Amino acid sequence: MKAVFFKELGGPEKLQAGDMPEPKIGPDEVLVRVRACALNHLDIWVRQGLGISIEMPHISGSDIAGEVADVGENVKHLRAGQHVVIAPGISCGQCEHCVSGNDSQCAAFDIMGMRRQGGYAGFAKAHVKDVHPVSDRLGFEEWAAVPLVFLTAWHMLVTRARLAPGETVLVHAAGSGVGSAAIQVAKLCGARVLTTAGSDEKLDLGKRLGADVCINYNREDFSARVMKETDGHGVNVVFEHIGAEMWPKNLRCLARGGRMVFCGTTAGADAQLNVRLMYLFQHAIIGCYMGGKREFIEVLRQVEAGRLRPVVDRRFALADAALAQQRMLDRKNLGKIVLVI
Ligand SMILES: [Zn+2]
Repeated sequence: MKAVFFKELGGPEKLQAGDMPEPKIGPDEVLVRVRACALNHLDIWVRQGLGISIEMPHISGSDIAGEVADVGENVKHLRAGQHVVIAPGISCGQCEHCVSGNDSQCAAFDIMGMRRQGGYAGFAKAHVKDVHPVSDRLGFEEWAAVPLVFLTAWHMLVTRARLAPGETVLVHAAGSGVGSAAIQVAKLCGARVLTTAGSDEKLDLGKRLGADVCINYNREDFSARVMKETDGHGVNVVFEHIGAEMWPKNLRCLARGGRMVFCGTTAGADAQLNVRLMYLFQHAIIGCYMGGKREFIEVLRQVEAGRLRPVVDRRFALADAALAQQRMLDRKNLGKIVLVI
């Protein structure tokens, strides 16, 4: 099958297009003909090296939409040709975390394209419990833009922050995949949404997705504007996915009793905090990582109902995966970059 892979860690130049053997499925697995695969920053981190052992040559890609090509002998409810997405988070399904719906706390937790082969390829395989039929309400490219970012945003805002109607939330980076998902999830929760971005084009997207206040952080100090917009109270929830350098300002615009949910540390992992203010104001800082199967099913339900909609930026041919990754590194994307296969 056609695939884009790398044989050693390094920059985008390590990505090469070529032939790889088609995955062989076991009795409980499904072979999916990949039609579209969305990019995530994870693809770049894995290529650069995360300190984990991965199979070489390695195929990246966590967000896979396609058609069922073949099923193992124990798979009864899927048939060839059916449109599906693959749940990106893979867990053991047996430990206390998995059976209580906290799949991403599983010690064996993995993500498609991280330790296992992903979707920059003609075919991918997954366990039947991770393969979800979808309608043709959306095309493959839009479906591929759903899984990872909406699952993460849902887990952070609904499950962990317990965002309530009437609360205010600050969502960073309206133009990013996870930012554009978080704005929609927050509106669905009935919250008032303040969002930041570094360009008016990205803020326009935020506005179209329902953000109430759009802040260009290159033109004004976002924390000062947040305090102004909330009459000096601050927001109830900060949705943080940039990195530790944002934390001091994030906490300055968090209301008493506020929660900061965070995932990702692109802009640094070491934060300096005044913890005295944290206990006086009773702030909670909540680390989040992906989400579970139950949340994934809820996300798919909301997308099927038209209440959440994926934002597709630009489409690239599979062979141009390096160009596609460069666009994400340059932060030029509005929503999700998708490889069409
Ligand atoms: Zn488990």
